[in-house]
Amino acid sequence: MTRDPEDDEAVPIILFQADHRFDLDRAALQKILLKDEIKDRHVVVLSVAGAFRKGKSFILDFFLRYMYCAYGDQTSSTSPSAAQWMGPTDKPLEGFSWRGGSERDTAGILVWSKVFLSRLKSGEEVAILILDTQGTFDSESTMRDSATVFALSTMISSIQVYNLSQNIQEDDLQHLQLFTEYGRIATEQAGTTPFQRLVFLVRDWSYPYEADYGEKGGQKILQKRLRVIANQHPELQSIRRHIKSCFSDISCFLMPHPGLKVATNPRFDGRLADIEDDFKTQLHRLAGMLLSPENLIVKEIGGQKVKAKDLLQYFDTYLAVYSGDELPEPKTLLAATAEANHLAALAAAKDCYSSTMEDFCGGSKPFVNPSLLDAEHLRAKVEAIKEFQGKRKMGSEYLSETYQVQLETELEEMLQQFKRFNSSKNFFKSATTPALFFGMSIV
Ligand code: GDP
Ligand code: MG
Repeated sequence: MTRDPEDDEAVPIILFQADHRFDLDRAALQKILLKDEIKDRHVVVLSVAGAFRKGKSFILDFFLRYMYCAYGDQTSSTSPSAAQWMGPTDKPLEGFSWRGGSERDTAGILVWSKVFLSRLKSGEEVAILILDTQGTFDSESTMRDSATVFALSTMISSIQVYNLSQNIQEDDLQHLQLFTEYGRIATEQAGTTPFQRLVFLVRDWSYPYEADYGEKGGQKILQKRLRVIANQHPELQSIRRHIKSCFSDISCFLMPHPGLKVATNPRFDGRLADIEDDFKTQLHRLAGMLLSPENLIVKEIGGQKVKAKDLLQYFDTYLAVYSGDELPEPKTLLAATAEANHLAALAAAKDCYSSTMEDFCGGSKPFVNPSLLDAEHLRAKVEAIKEFQGKRKMGSEYLSETYQVQLETELEEMLQQFKRFNSSKNFFKSATTPALFFGMSIV
């Protein structure tokens, strides 16, 4: 059933200030990611990025309609028909603000407050986050903000849609290279492709006789544009190799022009009745290709699936790097990723330890013999270290060893707490026993 996103809203999580500084609204992000039904689920993150005034928010609002229909009320594993999800023809289009709102000139990242749940084929329920990005790309000073927004959204998403107008031009590829430059370094270090799915979304494609609308035509154009040929300038070759090495899957989708009302009528409110049929047909295909249950891609960083609560950590670490005066050295960014990987592994290992110990001697359990508690601790510790070592992490052996030492220290501290708690249960026993004994001895 379709439901209106009335209570849901676009939440700015990163916005640039006039002086090009930017902040992460951590509290807002926490509120979204740390909900009970969300935080421990693996995440799928869809983002749309590219120059401004090119219809990014507009198309995202249709994606939201699809999401509410497919996943709004309950988790589903089938994709809706066009008639089901597109809804009535006279309904204004709402969601992320399009037509350029007041924040038109501000670069930043917004997240939709509702996180959708979907069931994958495997039966696992995953959480889906939708990101809108804003970059202006119109002057040298805003280019750095735009590059940061693009790079951050690429690092955080599992599906990055690169929204382009009319064609894939050489400078679109150059921009993409700049934005993903840091990823290349990470690849060399970690042996995995840094990012997952990239979709070039070409709007207003006007050469259907050269390549059909949709994915197949897109593939044809993409192959042409990304081809490396022997007598090509080495710079052009290197851009293409770089882009291919950064993503594990690259595709392209050609969208027709939506019609003059969409492009030029100031009173156009997004209703389907004012949009060309060709556009709607392709929009249905595109939404399914990106968001139907069988096409969802869980976010991975360094080959490891990411949970909603881990994303917070990644936002924090990446932003800390970007907050410096200069765009970071690729090395610094790798270090930040490695640190976030290790912190996530450390947290998972501690969770594992504390749940085993809770089961054994937690709040609801009776006092246990201290030597049994020590034995259980050793078992839980081995398990926790296995959990820590089992997570794939970027960075050096040395870094892993350092964090493992930290883990062992923290487990010892946790053990002391469990012990104190355990003996406090025994206190009543030991306080009452002598009294009884005393009483008995009087008698
Ligand atoms: P954003 O800055 O990239 O998020 O762009 P918006 O989504 O705010 O859209 C900017 C303008 O482009 C709006 O007036 C839309 O009506 C119009 N628009 C949306 N989609 C398309 C499209 O596919 N082609 C054309 N030519 N205009 C579009
Ligand atoms: Mg926008």
